[in-house]
Amino acid sequence: MPTSQSSLFSIPDIFSSQAVKASQWKKSTFRERISRLKSISAWIKEHQQDIRNALQNDFGKPEAETDLSEIYPVTSEITHTLKNLEKWMSPKSVGKPLTMLGTSGKIYLEPKGRSLIIAPWNYPFSLAVGPLISALAAGCTAIIKPSELTPHTSNLLEEMITELFDQSEVAVIQGEIETSQELLKLPFDHIFFTGSPAVGKIVMKAAAGHLTSVTLELGGKSPVIIDRNTDLKDAAGKILWGKFINSGQTCIAPDYILAHEEVLSELLMELKVGIQKMYDSNYKGIEHSPDLSRIVNDKHFNRLTDYIADAEKLGAKIEFGGHYNPATRYIEPTILLDVQDNMKIMQEEIFGPILPVKTYQNLEEAMDYINSRPKPLALYHFGNDKDNHEKVLQETSSGNVVINDCVLHYSHPNLPFGGVNNSGIGKAHGYFGFLEFSNQKGVLRQRVGMTNLTLLRPPYGLKAKQLISSLIKWF
Ligand code: NAD
Repeated sequence: MPTSQSSLFSIPDIFSSQAVKASQWKKSTFRERISRLKSISAWIKEHQQDIRNALQNDFGKPEAETDLSEIYPVTSEITHTLKNLEKWMSPKSVGKPLTMLGTSGKIYLEPKGRSLIIAPWNYPFSLAVGPLISALAAGCTAIIKPSELTPHTSNLLEEMITELFDQSEVAVIQGEIETSQELLKLPFDHIFFTGSPAVGKIVMKAAAGHLTSVTLELGGKSPVIIDRNTDLKDAAGKILWGKFINSGQTCIAPDYILAHEEVLSELLMELKVGIQKMYDSNYKGIEHSPDLSRIVNDKHFNRLTDYIADAEKLGAKIEFGGHYNPATRYIEPTILLDVQDNMKIMQEEIFGPILPVKTYQNLEEAMDYINSRPKPLALYHFGNDKDNHEKVLQETSSGNVVINDCVLHYSHPNLPFGGVNNSGIGKAHGYFGFLEFSNQKGVLRQRVGMTNLTLLRPPYGLKAKQLISSLIKWF
């Protein structure tokens, strides 16, 4: 494991050096920005195995899942940005009303300047590099604070950034929570935070001290509604993949299922068959599957096993799974029935391989349940009734909605990704990520000499007054 370089430089020194660079980068051209992005892409291609090894060492992440959920999201984000950046950067003309006759208006996208990216542990590579791509595309410098819970990946990230950038351009600062707190004291021009709603509030409070803008990519409980007329085999396969990839340690993993009571027994059968097929097709035991990540640390392992114990104690039934092994931090994919709102599992974001299933009798009941809780990061709706899709879209609020699939929206380059209120503020990915790191500067060009407004200057005679009232009346 390489040793951290962070401690060699003081945070204020790095921050000051980025001030100079940020003002130079304000003028950076499309070509300069894409060459920075290409260097990241080339490094990743060359170090694909190192990235896989780091994730394997951090929490036993299967190589295929690292390729799919850590490397592909980043390389595809770069490809998409390379294709579109010139268009995104170019000033956009806007239309004008009659009152603005003779003027022209344009939106210029200028880099905000110095950015801070605070990343979580659950996708420790892609959730640090993804926002960096948006920052570099927008022309910002960046300090990345990776998670302390995934040291192998954080060290590799630091190695990559040290190889590709001067610390006045991009720096990785590793450390515990105190390091994050020290960084948050500085007057950054933008903070992009990915993590829990609780820490999101701390970040926003600190940012308010400097009126720094924030993007908060947070979490929470993302529900799944299963309608009475659903292809249950199809739904079960999609839900299981979305839930158990990364062993459920995914911000947009289906947190719990609300199933129409008429489909419950068939749904449970499909879920159980599906788990068996995905992780134990040769009947050696799920624990021996090479395709299931482990829980990141003992604290999270204990939190999750406590959820199971607490739910069981309060009357929940383990329909499938429930086994675990503290030595390897393995938790079997687990389905819980008869869950109640007083159980911890229905109060906290689960963030692990446990799937509670509740039933409802009519769609209103399911929507009321969702609407009485904090707005989810993602809402998944399975079923064939298009009227019901519309109903759910109109009568609930969430960061994203996916109909007849889950988690997939994360990979759509043209959709904004993010939450609302408790699940987040601002959007990530593609153009939306680029906008977060850009100041949308509205620029108005007026002609020299006589303009419409000349007539509106004092002294306010009859003509001026008539003109002002016609403005109110007609425009
Ligand atoms: P976390 O909030 O505990 O930590 C995130 C980062 O904040 C880490 O780098 C950590 O060092 C730092 N941090 C922790 N406590 C801090 C404090 N008191 N002051 C300043 N900085 C602090 O989150 P996590 O456990 O790493 O990640 C899990 C959470 O992240 C879940 O809630 C999940 O839903 C969410 N998440 C959201 C997205 C998204 O895109 N919306 C993606 C992944 C994870």
